[in-house]
Amino acid sequence: MRIVLLGAPGSGKGTQAALLQERLGLPHISTGVLLRKAVEDRTPLGQQANAIIDRGELVPDDVMLELIEQRLGEADAQKGFLLDGYPRNLSQAQSLDKLLERLGQPVDEAIQIDIDPESVIARIAKRAETEDRSDDTEDVVRNRMQVYEEQTAPVVGYYAERGLLTRVLGTGSIEEVLRLILSVLEIEHPGLTA
Ligand code: AMP
Repeated sequence: MRIVLLGAPGSGKGTQAALLQERLGLPHISTGVLLRKAVEDRTPLGQQANAIIDRGELVPDDVMLELIEQRLGEADAQKGFLLDGYPRNLSQAQSLDKLLERLGQPVDEAIQIDIDPESVIARIAKRAETEDRSDDTEDVVRNRMQVYEEQTAPVVGYYAERGLLTRVLGTGSIEEVLRLILSVLEIEHPGLTA
């Protein structure tokens, strides 16, 4: 099963994807994690992405497509995946569709985690205490939220038009949100999470 998780920065999609990975036995593929690893390893990609991430902007689409194509080609992704952080704009959504069509593995489900902006700020401030991400400072978070509104929010409509979207409320506890997501997957795919 191939799932795309959508939601603003701080909506909890990374946390949920990690839990779903265990629960569903599917790899959690986070482009943010892949990019931060590349930065840490000082690869050419990391060197290119570093400053862009620190400004809260988007790494160019062609670079991201290459990264995601490579990752989706790995053995563990052949049984399905949970995508977190990709696609981030309409062009990426179209590229992903084309890529997955070519691989014969279309997206089965897109889940949008809805959350209000105040909760986002509070959650990211909390995360900044434990995770030490260079892009969790107040100014950069503000920019990431603006980039989200302008570029990523339309992706929700893209999946809605294709009949693949379900929205869940992300303001509850981690367990409550997980339960909501699992119920979406169970209803449409009985037995999957048993
Ligand atoms: P995330 O961990 O998903 O919040 O991503 C952290 C940062 O990595 C983003 O603010 C972007 O700079 C970059 N990034 C992650 N995913 C993408 C993507 N699909 N397209 C472009 N940039 C991305």
